[in-house]
Amino acid sequence: MTKSVTIDRERSTQRIENDIETLAGPDFTESDQAIRRYAYTPQYENTLQYFTRELEQIGFSVWRDPVGTLIASNVPKGAPAFGVGSHCDSNRNGGKYDGTLGVVTALEVCRLAQESDQQIPLRLISFLEEEGSGFGQMLLGSRIMAQRVTEEELKTKFLTPEGVPFWDAAKAAGYEPERWRESAEELEGLTGWIELHIEQGRVLQDTGNRIGVVHAIAGYVHGDFHFAGRADHAGATPMNFRVDAALPAAETILEVERLANEIGDTTVGTTGEIESFPSLINVVPGGVRVSLDTRSVTGGHLELRDRIVAYAEERAEARGVGFEWVERQGLDVTPMSDTIVEALRAEAEATGEPFIVMPSGAAHDTMCVADSTPTAMVFVPCLDGLSHTPLEDSDTADAALAAEIILGAIMALDA
Ligand SMILES: [Zn+2]
Repeated sequence: MTKSVTIDRERSTQRIENDIETLAGPDFTESDQAIRRYAYTPQYENTLQYFTRELEQIGFSVWRDPVGTLIASNVPKGAPAFGVGSHCDSNRNGGKYDGTLGVVTALEVCRLAQESDQQIPLRLISFLEEEGSGFGQMLLGSRIMAQRVTEEELKTKFLTPEGVPFWDAAKAAGYEPERWRESAEELEGLTGWIELHIEQGRVLQDTGNRIGVVHAIAGYVHGDFHFAGRADHAGATPMNFRVDAALPAAETILEVERLANEIGDTTVGTTGEIESFPSLINVVPGGVRVSLDTRSVTGGHLELRDRIVAYAEERAEARGVGFEWVERQGLDVTPMSDTIVEALRAEAEATGEPFIVMPSGAAHDTMCVADSTPTAMVFVPCLDGLSHTPLEDSDTADAALAAEIILGAIMALDA
């Protein structure tokens, strides 16, 4: 296997490094301790304008969809083109690389394509609000584009922490949310799609690999167990007089671990939010809420959800505690395109650099693109698997290597 393209990786590394460091500057984040940028803030707008300038400079046309997702192309809107991109909003206390490195690397792929002597039709997309920090909704821009939302949700259900609906916030920023359905047109004509992202886990680092070619994105279920007991006085109430909501909650938390291990096959389960009411040292817990996040690329997360909900209900009932399971949201497993995965694998192999083919445990905008387009993803290592923290770190030389592999795969698929 020969490489489809050879780039000057040192130069690409420097350009990517320059983009990343520029976008970590004070004009692009609300916080001086972390990267913090949400849709419709001045810092977010500055970021989109940076990408607009860079893309226009290499001859791309740049526009926005009706709610603020940025699109750029070197062929007319709607003409067949291969898609690259990610998101450039951040978590509340985010780092320089989550999302942004994907858009920056996509920009570098566009630069390299324009510098080559071949005409490679490309479309770059930087999705609005992937992290869910602005309106509490993950993958919001790509879900709007894939029409995975309702107008009712956009108008009344998706709110800022201050209670402002997405609809009103989009209008105030100068967008036209009433035209949100037209966002779907931005995916028309896409011949394929590749998103680069930092891994957000430590598999690549700990196995000494520079590249992960993603063959499937895990499906997930998010929900809450609600246990309702009785908030009695902790001193005056003997043990056998209590209805303690914390006890079946504790049993459930341990069972999530046991079940995830038993089901195996990439299945993970996490109880990250644990809330007790009234949360006082001298009161028996009258209510407990425990969140559940479960994921797999095999469907094991659905089995875990079904079995843990039945278990929690049974343990609550045995202790005379009220029980309710409230599901928040979920997404199915998203398989990637075999053709694109194979093209990436072949290009990665031809570089001689260490890589693996792996699943993604985290959700990504690519899940929504995959509804209508053959897709794949490329991961690069991040220090100790850290993301959603200012401590995030990633080697821009790995992103440059990824840019070479992505461009090579696009050229191989094109040919
Ligand atoms: Zn991200």
